[in-house]
Amino acid sequence: MTKQALGFVGLGNMGGPMGTRLMQAGHELYVYDRDEAALERLVAAGAKRMASVKAVADQVETLFLSLPTPDIVEAVCLQEGGLKDGGKVRQIVDLSTIGPRAAASIAKGLADKGILYVDSPVSGGVQGAVKGTLAVMVSCPRANYDALESVLANFGKPFFLGEKAGQAQTVKIANNIMSATAVAITSEAVVMGVKAGIDPKVMLDVINSGSGRNTASADKFPRCVLPRTFDVGFAAALAYKDVRLCVDEAEHIGVPMVVGSAVREMLSITLAACGKDADFCDVVKVIESWAGVEVRG
Ligand code: NAD
Repeated sequence: MTKQALGFVGLGNMGGPMGTRLMQAGHELYVYDRDEAALERLVAAGAKRMASVKAVADQVETLFLSLPTPDIVEAVCLQEGGLKDGGKVRQIVDLSTIGPRAAASIAKGLADKGILYVDSPVSGGVQGAVKGTLAVMVSCPRANYDALESVLANFGKPFFLGEKAGQAQTVKIANNIMSATAVAITSEAVVMGVKAGIDPKVMLDVINSGSGRNTASADKFPRCVLPRTFDVGFAAALAYKDVRLCVDEAEHIGVPMVVGSAVREMLSITLAACGKDADFCDVVKVIESWAGVEVRG
């Protein structure tokens, strides 16, 4: 894709660095976020400040979204005065995790207004968003994917998953339930080790050289749990949303998810115990409180 004017709505933990990468690649960026601090960070880096989502959709043909929940994406796209009413927008590339059924329904609502919805969730965390190493899962008509691939490559590695909105979301929620399962089971296993008197850093080194290695043991625990910073950059509330979307979808299409349901409950308990602003890794604090030990190293 040649350099062009692009829009970006939702400039939080993921959208902020992804938008920044588009500007670094030379694209002109029109931005909006309802949070002034998030908006100002991108404006200070050279983006054009817009006063509403519709104002962005009045300026650009291609617009990216990175928003928290299905309800918010639906409202931003389809409510009166939302993106659907923008004068210029032709395609909306949704980088949010909203689940397959919401994606399909929003795609239909936008298609009725002649706007293409590109289902494009990402995985790889804030670090991946900053470095441009995300997995970018995409479903939309193949010709639109081919035209977008080079701009999506600014975020990481694009994968084409099919022509129907929702197909990329299915892969994304499968990925995230696995990631959340890794956090939950690593929490249980490492707390057990600490209670038995094992140094958690040594225990993680062993696991990471062995067959228990996973994204929690290799990255989140050494980076955010051992130093007790709990700043993964992914809210437990968003992880809970993703796991619920996955268990609900599995139930909808007739696939039992025994382990996934247990992980969903662990995240629910974490939110109840640690509050709505809890970090993804706060799961370990719940197990620590049950066991009466702390994982520190
Ligand atoms: P975040 O809460 O940090 O950012 C979301 C941004 O959207 C915030 O700045 C918020 O002010 C803005 N926003 C909310 N409602 C809005 C509205 N109506 N209009 C305009 N702006 C609005 O969330 P995040 O961690 O950046 O995640 C964004 C999406 O990406 C979510 O769907 C999440 O599940 C997904 N995701 C997150 C990660 C991660 O590691 N953080 C990784 C992959 C995918």
